[in-house]
Amino acid sequence: MSKPRVAFFDFTSCEGCQLNKLNLENDLLSLLELVDIVEFREAMDDKAENYDVAFIEGSISTPSCVKRIYDIRRRAGVLVSLGSCAVLGGVNAMKNLHPADWVQEAVYGDDKYLFPSIPVQPVSAYVKVDYEIRGCPMSTPEFLHVLKSIVLGRKPEIFDHAVCVECKLHENECVLDKGMFCLGPVSRAGCEAICPENGQYCTGCRGLISNANVGGAIHMLKRHGFSEQEAKKKLQMYSSLNKLINEAECRHA
Ligand code: SF4
Ligand code: SF4
Ligand code: SF4
Repeated sequence: MSKPRVAFFDFTSCEGCQLNKLNLENDLLSLLELVDIVEFREAMDDKAENYDVAFIEGSISTPSCVKRIYDIRRRAGVLVSLGSCAVLGGVNAMKNLHPADWVQEAVYGDDKYLFPSIPVQPVSAYVKVDYEIRGCPMSTPEFLHVLKSIVLGRKPEIFDHAVCVECKLHENECVLDKGMFCLGPVSRAGCEAICPENGQYCTGCRGLISNANVGGAIHMLKRHGFSEQEAKKKLQMYSSLNKLINEAECRHA
């Protein structure tokens, strides 16, 4: 039986998620026993006509991105968004918070007309996405879990509980009690609360849980001495396209 043909593509991104795959070391060899990698710009020159599984890194931010993602979807059996840029729009989507012309000029100066740009969107805004792997960068164990599940014809586990749950299970000291900021109560788990585990605060890189009480989280952060403006700004870093943030109201002074 032939092995599934797997391809990787990058759109608007820092390519950190793809680099994370090249760092799989020993796992990379066992991965190659399971699948044939037929296109992967960061590691090989070959191009393929079609693929059983296409992994997409990066957000959609130019007219050429739109054309390319439609073409890839047409050629792919299963399509997986990889990392916060692809799943959420990610840090790139903060561009949408400013006037387009101002952003173009700030980045390209007088050459701004040479680089057509559109508001940043996640991959799912344009094509059907079968599975998502969240995080900035994506977590390599989760990547292996999703790929193995697809190869075995199983549904990968989907996380929709808060980072605080994993953090508590790890018996970490809450960084809020140390005077630090944290978005764990509304951020989507699956990372084993790696940031608080290492004394850092959660910036919400995996996006929000689906029923996030954003107003409540802002109220809680205010009680810990942070302003509503700061809380909203930090929430917007990865999830500026999430309407829960834009609609959030903190009903408490
Ligand atoms: S999700 Fe983060 S690491 Fe991955 S491409 Fe985007 S910015 Fe880079
Ligand atoms: S450190 Fe953050 S993630 Fe952990 S319990 Fe406190 S608020 Fe939740
Ligand atoms: S703890 Fe928060 S910021 Fe850190 S990896 Fe998990 S979701 Fe991302």
